[in-house]
Amino acid sequence: MQQDVYDIIIIGGGPAGLTAGLYAARGRRNVIMIESYTIMGQATMTDIIENYPGVESSTGFDLISTFKKQAESFGLKCSSGTVKNISRGEADGIPLWLVEDENGQHKALSVIIASGARAKKVGVPGEEEFLGKGVSYCATCDGAFFRDKDIVVIGGGDTAVEEALFLTKFGKKVTLIHRRDRLRATKIVQERALSNKKMEFVLESVVEEIKGTDKVEGVRIKNLSSGESSDISCEGVFVFVGWSPNSDFSKGIIDLDERGSIVVDANMNTSASGIFAGGDCCSKILHQVVTACGDGAIAAFSAGQYVDALKGETY
Ligand code: NAP
Repeated sequence: MQQDVYDIIIIGGGPAGLTAGLYAARGRRNVIMIESYTIMGQATMTDIIENYPGVESSTGFDLISTFKKQAESFGLKCSSGTVKNISRGEADGIPLWLVEDENGQHKALSVIIASGARAKKVGVPGEEEFLGKGVSYCATCDGAFFRDKDIVVIGGGDTAVEEALFLTKFGKKVTLIHRRDRLRATKIVQERALSNKKMEFVLESVVEEIKGTDKVEGVRIKNLSSGESSDISCEGVFVFVGWSPNSDFSKGIIDLDERGSIVVDANMNTSASGIFAGGDCCSKILHQVVTACGDGAIAAFSAGQYVDALKGETY
């Protein structure tokens, strides 16, 4: 096999990618992990993670940093890059995958895609205009800019409610606006939010516009049962209305579902032989750090078996 052909290229440095890296490095595979330093992962951006067993409570940043240190201690090599494209190649009659980022083309026998997801936009006037001027998708990054200010959070899932709670550390008041008459978030998170004196809830309502001149000054909302519109003044608007998988670079190579998530089987095989996937970029029922780690471990094991078979070294 050519020297410059990796056994496994892992795309993404979140919980799935780093667990795959840990397993592949301990298995003494020739493996490299490519991660984008310009895109912060969902887990890294999370204020507190308290449902990863064995770790009572940790910031997302600390937990992911520990994962990385552990994987690197077993020899995982990490490279900075944003993958643009994957294509098929071949060397000495053996099928390869060619992974392209801004540093060039990397060759591998197998690929594990663990590229995660990115925040979805709510798609209202003012959202683009006031990005960085009051509109944010990351409470950990931007919360401190809104000390003693009024903050609006849009969304009703775990991310919205947890991040709203985090924002109460800074804001004078945090108003959570959700389109349904009840929240989607896990019950324990709801209980904390409902008992937090700094939090207010505006349910059955949607934000129609984010308003301001040079920066955010408020939002116009519409009550879905009465049809009436009204204004809420605020200086910060945090949008947490779900996410989209980072899978664009794999279109046409592997099967994606209707929302663009990668379709995998129980062994983390994608529809293309030699490409595996795990974590939030995949189509699955539960998106958590612990499930992403499980995916990464399985993907690394499956990729290892695939590589052994290609090399004629199956145990
Ligand atoms: P999510 O569960 O998909 O929730 C998105 C929320 O935004 C929903 O309440 C949805 O409303 C609302 N929404 C979507 N589009 C909207 C729009 N255009 N306008 C207004 N509201 C809109 O997303 P998430 O909260 O980011 O969570 C993603 C996954 O990560 C979930 O599986 C979640 O459990 C997991 N997660 C887990 C933790 C944890 O375990 N600690 C923390 C964060 C996230 P509807 O309810 O009407 O659909």
